[in-house]
Amino acid sequence: MPYSYDEQNIFAKILRGEIPCNKVAESEHCLAFHDIAPQAPQHVLVIPKGAYVTYDDFALNARDAEIIDFTRMVAKVCGQLGVCPTEAQAGYRLISNAGPDGMQEVPHLHVHILAGANIGPLTVKHT
Ligand code: AMP
Repeated sequence: MPYSYDEQNIFAKILRGEIPCNKVAESEHCLAFHDIAPQAPQHVLVIPKGAYVTYDDFALNARDAEIIDFTRMVAKVCGQLGVCPTEAQAGYRLISNAGPDGMQEVPHLHVHILAGANIGPLTVKHT
């Protein structure tokens, strides 16, 4: 059973224009903006405009047009930030936290784009 969507989550409020964001890019189906508490020199969030909680919710339930737009928006923002790897330079990490074990704070799907420095090891070990 997927989480039910909370219309009062902070990203829903951003999408409704109730609170501001530092916008990076926008398309028909998604919005990209700077994270308010950056964890890397460049830290941008990409969110779909539709009411999806997690990556699995989105991938299974969104329309193809939304999925294509979101996927391309992530790539376009990486290009806009100038972090797409060329030879041995630049690069980025994409993260999408889901649910309690993923330590998701905001229950509206978002992909973190982290870049601008070596982002370090993938995660701490839990084995
Ligand atoms: P997560 O733990 O994956 O749910 O990440 C939520 C992210 O949203 C965190 O990195 C927060 O810093 C970020 N965040 C929370 N509120 C805002 C906001 N109003 N504008 C931009 N980023 C936010």
